[in-house]
Amino acid sequence: MKDQPWWYGRLKESGARLTEPREIVLEILRSAREHLTATDIYIQAHRMKPSIGLTTVYRTLELLIKLGIVQKFELGEGKARFELVDKPGGEGHHHLVCLKCRKIIDYSDISNDEKEFLSRVEDRLKKKYDFKILDHLMWFYGVCRECRGS
Ligand SMILES: [Zn+2]
Ligand SMILES: [Zn+2]
Repeated sequence: MKDQPWWYGRLKESGARLTEPREIVLEILRSAREHLTATDIYIQAHRMKPSIGLTTVYRTLELLIKLGIVQKFELGEGKARFELVDKPGGEGHHHLVCLKCRKIIDYSDISNDEKEFLSRVEDRLKKKYDFKILDHLMWFYGVCRECRGS
């Protein structure tokens, strides 16, 4: 198939099979509108296939994190959140995190100025640390409009 998501290749290279629970977890993450917790994923997965337990969901997430397909966030809520990694070499997205209500705003309308700036930062880091950069992820922390109450 031509329009397979990028992580099909990643799974294949690693020798991991695309089992049904893995496929279900990936599909849930792909259609997610927000950053889900393991429990959120479990509830949806279980609805689609009742034999999927919470342990399977945790194991699947662990594997996908190890393969660089899923990323895990800890934002001090006492529970982790998960999202699919953006397609390598793609536009990517960044995050604004409200420290009061823990809301996460995805931010992907990156302007050309910002892109140029980021590639200059990457260039400098590459030289300074002799480090091959594959990707970057930015987090901005602050307080959202609702929490400022204005
Ligand atoms: Zn807020
Ligand atoms: Zn995100």
